[in-house]
Order: sequence, then C-alpha cells, then structure tokens
Amino acid sequence: MGSAARDKPHAVVIPFPAQGHINPILQLAKILLHRGFHITFVHTEYNHKRLLKSRGPTSLHGLPSFRFETIPDGLPASASDDDVTQHIPSLCESTSKNCLAPFVNLLGRLNDRSVDDAEVPKVSCVIADGAMSFALDAAEKIGVPGVLFWTPSGCGALAYTQYRMLREKGLFPLKDASYLTNGFLDTNIDWIPGMKNIRLRDLPSFIRTTDANDVMVNYIMREIERTHKASAVILNTFHCLEKDVLMAFSSIYPNLYTIGPIHLLLNKIEDGDSCCVGSNLWKEDPACLGWLDSQEPDSVLYINFGSIAVITREQLIEFAWGLANSKKPFLWITRPDLVAGDTAVLPSEFLAETKGRGMLAGWCPQEQVLRHHSVGGFLTHCGWNSMLESICGGVPVLCWPFFAEQQTNCFYSESEWGIGMEIDNDVKRDEVEKLVRELMDGEKGKAMKKKAMEWKKKAEEATEPGGSSYENLETLLSRVLLKKL
Ligand code: UDP
Repeated sequence: MGSAARDKPHAVVIPFPAQGHINPILQLAKILLHRGFHITFVHTEYNHKRLLKSRGPTSLHGLPSFRFETIPDGLPASASDDDVTQHIPSLCESTSKNCLAPFVNLLGRLNDRSVDDAEVPKVSCVIADGAMSFALDAAEKIGVPGVLFWTPSGCGALAYTQYRMLREKGLFPLKDASYLTNGFLDTNIDWIPGMKNIRLRDLPSFIRTTDANDVMVNYIMREIERTHKASAVILNTFHCLEKDVLMAFSSIYPNLYTIGPIHLLLNKIEDGDSCCVGSNLWKEDPACLGWLDSQEPDSVLYINFGSIAVITREQLIEFAWGLANSKKPFLWITRPDLVAGDTAVLPSEFLAETKGRGMLAGWCPQEQVLRHHSVGGFLTHCGWNSMLESICGGVPVLCWPFFAEQQTNCFYSESEWGIGMEIDNDVKRDEVEKLVRELMDGEKGKAMKKKAMEWKKKAEEATEPGGSSYENLETLLSRVLLKKL
C-alpha cells in the first residue's frame, strides 16, 4: 500500500447488531468509501457468522479499503446459536456493558504500526449507532471525533428525548396493566415541541410498562443523554419531511445532520445492490422480482414486518384470510422466525385459495421491491427503513406497528404525511380485507398514492446536489469527518 492509501481518512463504523440498524450505517460507510475513506466495519461475531451463512464467504472479503472486523456481543453462546434475531433487550444490556473493552482493543490494534496490518491508515473518526454510545468513550481515548448515527425517524428520536419528562410527569410507569386498555394511552400529550396532537399511545412503545426498572426504558434514557457527548448526530431523514420535529431535535442536539434517505444518496453514486459488500442476515429470495415483473402496474400489495417483529399464529391467520378475501395480488415475506414459537407455514386452504395471485418468500431485496412498478401498497410494521424505502418508491402504507418508535411513525404517516392508514393492533380479517381494498382501489388509497409520489419527489430533491441532505453530508464531511486534528 502506497503512502496515498496510508494518508486516507479512516472511519471505524459500528452498527447496533440488528438488520434495521446495520443497513443505513453500512450505506453511509459505502458513501464514505466513495469519498476516499478507508473503512473498518465492525460486526458482532454472531452477525458475522450469519452473514457468512446468508451471503457466502466472498461477501465479507470487502475491498482493500473496506474491511470487516468483529467483536463479541457479550451474550452467552447458547443464547445466540440460531439463525434468528437476538432478544433485543438482552442485546442492548449486553452491548452497553461488554463491548467497550473489545472495541478499544480493536482501535488500538488498528492504530498499532507494528502489527501485520500496519498499512491501514490511522483511525481518524468513529461512527457508531446512537444506541452504541460506548464507542464515544473509545473515540475519546484515541482522540478522534465520535459521531452517533441514530437510525429511527426524527419523530421517533425526538420522542425518545422526552422519556425522562414523561416519567417525571407520572405518565409512566403505568400504575398497573389495566392502564394499557382503560383509555389512559389516549391521553393527549400537548407539551412536546414539534409534536402536535400526539397521544401517549403514539409515543415509542417501551413506555407501556409497569416496571420502573424496565431495561429498554433505562437503556434508551441513558443513550439519549450520552448523545450530548457526540461530535455530530446523524439522522436518516430529510428536512422537509419532518421540519418541526427536526427544529425541536436540533435545539437539543445542535450538531445535527439529516442526510436521508441515505440509500438514495448511495444509489446516486452506485447501484447499491451491485456492491459486493452486503448486509442481509437472511438469505434473499431473488425470484420475487421476476414474479413482480409478471404483474400489472400498481396492482400488488407487498407485506413485510421487517427483521424483529414476531406475531402470533392467530395474527398470521387473520392477515392471511384478510388478504385472501381482498382478492388482490400480493407478495408476502414470512421470515422463518416470524411466528412466535411456531413455523411461518400458512394453511393449505389459504394457499389453494390464493394460488396464482400470491407469492410467498422468506426474505426479499426490499428496496428493489418497493421501487418496482407493480407494487401499489405496502402492509408494514412501520420500521423506519421500511417507511423511508416506501416513501422513496412512492408507495402508500397500511400500518401495523409492532414496537419501539413504529407507533410514532404510524401516527406521522397518517396525520402528517398523508400516506398511511392504521390496522388495529388486535388484527381481524374483515378489517384487513376492507383496508386492503381501500388502499388498492378506494378514493382514500388514491389520495395516499398521490401524497406518496409527492414525498418521493421531495426525497429525490433532498439527495441531489443543492438538496438539504446532500449539502448536510458535505458539511458533516468538512466540519467533522475530514477535519484535521
Ligand atoms: N429488509 C429486506 N428484506 C426483507 C425484510 C427487510 O431487505 O425481506 C430490510 C429492509 O429493506 C430494511 C430493513 O431490512 O432496510 C428492516 O428495517 P426496518 O427499520 O424497516 O425494520 P426492523 O427490521 O428494524 O424492524
């Protein structure tokens, strides 16, 4: 490696070890690679093994300037042997307690001129998921900027900043479990700047707890407060989508950079899917795209609940018959670990009834699916990446939020962005059928489609030269990531 390579800026990038966190931060890493950075991308050992399985060994060879490293997540091996999403609260607790030491060692090794890889440039910045703030301490130890990338929406992230106040006002922990159903969650919260007409039930779901020591709540409050230590805070959203919310968020964290939808920024540089560096933890079924090619424009309902949501067998059956009764063509992704304690196999009567107009798969290239002209609607759990990918495809959504800030995304998609309709949490086949028909054929569905197309255009504008996200990335580079120490 010549001295030019040694002089490159070197970003060490570490995601929270779950699919919806890995994807956007990997997209940022690829953009930085194109901007001349050397990248070290840090997976947990558990996810590294899964990636080897799902994508094959070549996927992780990287490029000379894009290398992978691993650290342990600290969970016992017995709890993490399967090809499934790990238990999120345990992962949060474990990474925050156990990852600092191996991460500091890794940075030390990368900077050690006497080891084999001495030609790797000196680490010049650390970019970590907002939920991996221990990485800031490691960055501080070696005297480089530590940047946090929060992967939720702006509205979700802002809502998390309010957890402490919500607790001080006595809005949680809930007095007892009856408060989940007695109307208390409908309480209007009118004091959060930038959030109008929001109810307790629309705020990130972890506050629906009766436990004052709830792991997730305490973890999030701690990580949100530690965010003040970051040299910069990144959000994967764009200015005009969440103007009020972002103004409120940046009054708390003035060093905020919104650079989303980040996959659009990347796609403008390269065909994101052609890069050898991939991140799918499940094996992708490429046949979905061929099947979509054979369908009419805007005719297919796409259903996918992301990488973490787990549903009951009863819910699976209600969705299935709602879909079957709607008579609409559908592409339904049923992850192998989608149904709690069971396989995601659908009843033979449903398969017979929908033969010829439904396609089932275990995992798909979602970004491409949502850009496909045949997809007319998306039944989603409202994970933020899914919402953004849907917006970028101009696809309206049926929302069935599962947990975390998905409830907040659902609320905004309906009340602010005009692209969503919510399905009741207690899902019933008749409601699914009715809303699918409304989305795909009804007047409301048409209005939502129009809105989704408008947001698609605005997302494209934001990521073009002169657009807010494009320019924010430039400023982030010059002010923080490329700043000479
Ligand atoms: N994804 C995918 N194929 C699938 C399901 C999901 O590529 O079949 C990707 C999707 O494009 C998104 C991420 O996985 O980028 C899921 O993130 P999201 O925030 O939507 O939800 P989460 O999985 O975190 O709940």
